Amino acid sequence: MLTVEEALDQILSHVRPLGTELVELTAALGRVLAEPVVSRRELPPWPNSSMDGYAVRADDTRAGGVELVVVGRIIAGSLPARTLRTGEAMRIFTGAPLPAGADAVVPQEDVTADGERVAIPRPVARGAFVRPAGEDVRAGDVVVETGETISAAEVGLLAALGHARVRVHRRPRVAVLSTGNELADLGTEPGPGQIPNTNTYSLMAQALEAGAEPVSLGVVPDRLEAIVERVRWAAWADVLVSSAGVSVGELDLVREALVKCGAVLHLWKVAMRPGKPITFGSLESRPVFGLPGNPVSAMVTFELFVRPALRKMAGCRGIDRPRVWARALEAISNPGGRRGYLRVTLARDGTEYGARLTGDQGSGILRSMVRADGLAVVAPDTIVPAGDRVEVIILRALEPRTLGR
Ligand code: AMP
Ligand code: MG
Repeated sequence: MLTVEEALDQILSHVRPLGTELVELTAALGRVLAEPVVSRRELPPWPNSSMDGYAVRADDTRAGGVELVVVGRIIAGSLPARTLRTGEAMRIFTGAPLPAGADAVVPQEDVTADGERVAIPRPVARGAFVRPAGEDVRAGDVVVETGETISAAEVGLLAALGHARVRVHRRPRVAVLSTGNELADLGTEPGPGQIPNTNTYSLMAQALEAGAEPVSLGVVPDRLEAIVERVRWAAWADVLVSSAGVSVGELDLVREALVKCGAVLHLWKVAMRPGKPITFGSLESRPVFGLPGNPVSAMVTFELFVRPALRKMAGCRGIDRPRVWARALEAISNPGGRRGYLRVTLARDGTEYGARLTGDQGSGILRSMVRADGLAVVAPDTIVPAGDRVEVIILRALEPRTLGR
């Protein structure tokens, strides 16, 4: 059996970043940059005032208690009429360009003025209330790196630099298939012996969260030809993710179906719990995943294997979830010979995190996934005693309650 790391290495070695496209800046939030953003301009473009007041030459104020002649007025959006000479000041407003010759601004609340003259009681330091050209960004600066995900601040910076469109990686299109005779899809009442299809929806949501574009292939029964036909439908997809039917039962036909479609299977069993039977292969160079059927196993294997693959395809620099070391607030036990990924809540415990199991860790218990802030990684046949530290993969942005507020 492969370790999780070996399996992930194999998977990633078969996965390449997708091509790129240009998108409008207003649609760029959450997309991954496909080229670095190099500034062609200075921000701000010229020295300007950070206050409403008077532009002066600092040297003129050195004596304290000086009076200067007001020779002009500069509002934001206009240019100074001329250079400022010794003994002069210009009325200036926030964001307006500093006139040549001036090197400081005195806020209006610090002076007395009658329109023609301005009295400045105290000396002014050179550079006071002046925002120098290029203090934010210099021409030639790399302001955002390739592979970064565009957030609100990047959108603002890109706008400031004049980028109406940005080049981003294409989002992976993920076909999501659920297999099983027992499945009733959403919208139909489960008949006798049937259970509601869960995995299509959790896996599509996980794909969306990972920055991909999921499409459902619906539910298909445990019949070889039916699975083969449905997999062939998905020729448009960049990735296929199916769930169930990958174990050793006689109705576990997904592997055979994938091979029949022309897939080369690279791996099957991974030493982890929940999970273990997981198939990964290449179908005409496109990655295909056969995840286990139990809803928690499907989600956890998606998290550990599909998500990193999708993020690599999406061109992301950081494909891993953050991890923290947390103190076990109760004993966390992982019996059996496979590494455990146990659902835990995280709570702020003084200066560190405390981790507590979310409840029954059965691979069908979705309730305990709902409450999970993360997955505690526990070695085979190990009990982490209360008070010891355990490594936790963080699955979601932590809530204020977690942070102790
Ligand atoms: P299998 O891998 O086919 O043996 O399925 C393992 C377990 O997961 C069985 O109890 C199935 O009923 C359940 N299961 C499989 N697919 C789904 C699904 N799409 N939604 C909810 N449960 C599922
Ligand atoms: Mg089955």
